[in-house]
Amino acid sequence: MPLSPDLRNTLRDKLLQRRAQMVADLQDESVSEEGTLAVRSHREETDDDAVIEAMDAVEIAATARDASELAAIDRALQRLDTAEFGICIDCGAEIETARLLAEPTVLRCATCQQRYEHQHFTPGGARL
Ligand SMILES: [Zn+2]
Repeated sequence: MPLSPDLRNTLRDKLLQRRAQMVADLQDESVSEEGTLAVRSHREETDDDAVIEAMDAVEIAATARDASELAAIDRALQRLDTAEFGICIDCGAEIETARLLAEPTVLRCATCQQRYEHQHFTPGGARL
């Protein structure tokens, strides 16, 4: 069964809301006046170079995570109006509605997501 227009609209609202929130956060934290992505330095907060480096690294990681989530939201918004949206990219099955509502950017059904995570995020190192 294809996604109902209502569900599509609900998901679009969720995605746009989250996108607006993330853009606001990113602007707050890490976009310079020129509009380029920049990371605020913690140099004013401490004299300890190692601490500054660690704090900057944390911030860079957080910014990168936000940026990749933003990209995922944009991809989901682009897919939303296509027949591919809501279809698992691995097995072609329909992704559960509850799953889409909880996380509109998901690309896989629950079964494939589990397998994917098992293959790619095995604790203790990669296995073949
Ligand atoms: Zn699947």
